[in-house]
Amino acid sequence: MAYDYDFFVIGAGSAGVRSARIAAKHGARVAVAEGSALGGTCVNLGCVPKKIMAYGADYHAHFEDARGYGWNVPEIGFDWTTLIDNQRAEIVRLNGAYENTLGNAGVEIIQGYARFEDAHTVRVGDETYTAERILIAVGGRPRVPSCEGGDLMAVSDDLFSWPEQPKRVVIVGGGYVAVEFAHILHGIGAEVDLIYRGDLFLKSFDRDLSQHLADCMEAKGVRLHFNTDLARCEKSDDGFIVHTDSGLALPCDMAMAAIGRVPVTDGLGLDKAGVHLAKNGQIPVDADYATNVSHIYACGDVANSHHLTPVAIKEGHVLADRLFNAQADRVVNYKNIATAVFSDPNICTVGMSEREAVDKGFEVEIFKSTFTPMRNQLAGRKEKTLMKMVVDKASDQVLGLHMIGLDSPEILQGFAVAMNMGATKADFDRTMPIHPTSAEEFVTL
Ligand code: NDP
Repeated sequence: MAYDYDFFVIGAGSAGVRSARIAAKHGARVAVAEGSALGGTCVNLGCVPKKIMAYGADYHAHFEDARGYGWNVPEIGFDWTTLIDNQRAEIVRLNGAYENTLGNAGVEIIQGYARFEDAHTVRVGDETYTAERILIAVGGRPRVPSCEGGDLMAVSDDLFSWPEQPKRVVIVGGGYVAVEFAHILHGIGAEVDLIYRGDLFLKSFDRDLSQHLADCMEAKGVRLHFNTDLARCEKSDDGFIVHTDSGLALPCDMAMAAIGRVPVTDGLGLDKAGVHLAKNGQIPVDADYATNVSHIYACGDVANSHHLTPVAIKEGHVLADRLFNAQADRVVNYKNIATAVFSDPNICTVGMSEREAVDKGFEVEIFKSTFTPMRNQLAGRKEKTLMKMVVDKASDQVLGLHMIGLDSPEILQGFAVAMNMGATKADFDRTMPIHPTSAEEFVTL
């Protein structure tokens, strides 16, 4: 049968855009359907606007620190509308860049939400399109709390177009979003309460780092309520009141839930294509990213558990190379995925935490350094940097590197390469330090 396209991609986010572009580069006839702005969560409601807002928040500390270096910093003020407008303008610029990139690659962009009619046919609006192969790359959306008043709460998407600067904020959750948004909102001057049901947030990270961050946040005045869960949320005359299971009633003008994300598979008509869903709403795939229907694939947040843009991009890329460039041996390396939390200070980690290594049966040796980074000295900033290395005693191989401090994501990217090459502690030791830097601590531990 002759199909309209060789490859039809549903969703122009990180996985979909890369897969569509690479498939077209390999000569496939490709279309991508997107009902919202091009670029998906990362560009529109995630990594990019978040990082812009985090940069914005960081300036508060930079202005304060500059005084110790002789700068005569007058009274500083902050304008929410300027940050929001400039951030939105940058996202619109990026949407245009994505459109150009796809167009230049020869990908047809179809505006609208796609829905399966059958296993080779999708409908977008009034039109139907057939394709030999179809990729589902629809991503996820923030989970809304199921408690009373949970639907009154804001989610991360809302911050980027919030009409006024929130002055009192309650954030529920203990993952990436909760911690990063606490930094942004506190940095620009809000009072922030963070509620987390466990005993220490960022539970998948090395505990020393999570504890260090908790200490730093509390020292700055963020109120952390651990072992506390959301009970309900209600509207009040001047905003909201968040009630906790421990009996707290926290008034605020922004109540935000940051309790994870759910895949956006409703409305896709997967039953018409015969594609199965897992209990958690994700689409199960095999090692080739194929669903139970062999010519329908799924990549990115809708299918994997990493929920990281670079992972989605690699998956989309590898899939296109395999399908349209006969590179059947191309695989995504899921080992040692470096990940950062743009908190204050930043956290970055690659490889295993101490606990994970011990649980996996390694006898570990731990190397740690806590120090005041040089930049903080004259600024009078007490905040310390923590670096930690987890080493396998038997082989001397470095199993995990962890850092909380200035520029940790910029520092650890290079070390992630060394980790993937199997670097040992001895390899680190015989590497000449770059002086004076914070990064040099990793080779002098
Ligand atoms: P995460 O999965 O990181 O964290 C969810 C948090 O919400 C956890 O602390 C979890 O608690 C808590 N939680 C889950 N369900 C409930 C509930 N019903 N009631 C109360 N608390 C609950 O999700 P995020 O929303 O923070 O981020 C979503 C995804 O986006 C992440 O998977 C992450 O990979 C990605 N992301 C990555 C970023 C980056 O790379 N810098 C930045 C932002 C997001 P518990 O710990 O007890 O399970």
